[in-house]
Amino acid sequence: MLSVIFILPVPIDKSISVNFTIIIALGMYMKEIILGKCGEMALKGLNRTDFESILLKNLRHRLSSCGKFDVSISQSTIYIRPIDETADIDAAFDTALKAFGLSAVSRAAAFDKDMDAIFAGAPEYLEKYLNSARTFKVEAKRADKSFPLKSPEICRELGGKLLESFPHLKVDVNRPDIIVTVEIREREAYVRAGQHKGAGGLPTGTSGRATVLISGGIDSPVAAWMMARRGLKLSAVHFASPPYTSKRAEKKVMQLLETVAEYSGPITVYVVPFTKIQEEIRDKVDEPFSTLVMRRLMMRTASIIAKKEHALALVTGESLGQVASQTLRALSCTDDAASLTVFRPLIGMDKEEIITIARNIGTFETSIQPFEDCCTVFTPRHPKTRPQLDELVAQEQRLDIEALVAEAAENAEEHLVE
Ligand code: ATP
Ligand code: MG
Repeated sequence: MLSVIFILPVPIDKSISVNFTIIIALGMYMKEIILGKCGEMALKGLNRTDFESILLKNLRHRLSSCGKFDVSISQSTIYIRPIDETADIDAAFDTALKAFGLSAVSRAAAFDKDMDAIFAGAPEYLEKYLNSARTFKVEAKRADKSFPLKSPEICRELGGKLLESFPHLKVDVNRPDIIVTVEIREREAYVRAGQHKGAGGLPTGTSGRATVLISGGIDSPVAAWMMARRGLKLSAVHFASPPYTSKRAEKKVMQLLETVAEYSGPITVYVVPFTKIQEEIRDKVDEPFSTLVMRRLMMRTASIIAKKEHALALVTGESLGQVASQTLRALSCTDDAASLTVFRPLIGMDKEEIITIARNIGTFETSIQPFEDCCTVFTPRHPKTRPQLDELVAQEQRLDIEALVAEAAENAEEHLVE
């Protein structure tokens, strides 16, 4: 694009007049766009186009709330271009940072493939980054091999130009504060200062569907995020036991899912009335077995809902040995009641590691709000840590399991979180 600035002779006072000057600035930068680098999916061989089209669909859907953007892909790079003034590039950038499937995301100025155009616009575009830096280096990537300058020449020339425009800067090729990258691609050239790590993983929906058992705790939202990051489209089940658990506790769970949904896209959540089951357990099951019987009923109920959602797996936030119901023996008894594969992405992690992820994804502060969970009402004083499956099955015969579970699943309230 050609931008022309005319500075016309304006007599400021009688003694001073400004010469007629025409400054032709060849191509101030055309516009700012967002570039995304496809991560692991670039390795997917024949399935790659399927992965790419799901990623594009996800991005288009998410970006629709940020104004009008054109979203396209070429050679494993996603291009997000604003179309008109409705396009909010800051919001789009935040959205792209949370899209699974992108390993890196950056903002860049797009130019005609012309060094003069880049010289004319790059200093202005980079000003906000370079003003606060002390050192920099330029890197060039020349995908278009017909571009007249080779990469080292591009680096040298743009480097020189930037040193002229920002005399406080020094070049440091080893540990620069800022790396300015020039990419000469098929359609245009792009100039950017650094790039951000993307959310990584695989685009949501490329691995099928799973249903997460979500509590208001720290662990299960992290588990949900981790499995969504592996490309699973999530639905969720939350067991609520009013009046022992409050509406506010339920709201907290919705808030947690909203945060996960910023990454995973919309989540259908089923709030299952669990009071009757818990009261039956309290009244009929020997106390040391009550937690595990409850967990087995959770698995059964969640399996019914998951099948309705066409999910092939359940996801929980359990971690080996964290509490009495998460010993190996306890987990294998819980598994026995699930009719789907159970994913426990936190199984080998310690609490500190889980908390670090919770903080990074933004669920931690919500999770630590003190609200009761159905697991914490009627907790036994001496839970069984080495349960035998046949003991549990014998305890369950005191209950009409099938009817209880069917009723709970039937009466679940469905909500969409996005
Ligand atoms: P969290 O931090 O996720 O609550 P936790 O360490 O407190 O985990 P438990 O309360 O024993 O562990 O729950 C283990 C797992 O069971 C949770 O991670 C979650 O997947 C599921 N779960 C617990 N309570 C509920 C609930 N009310 N509704 C749905 N799932 C639940
Ligand atoms: Mg919990």
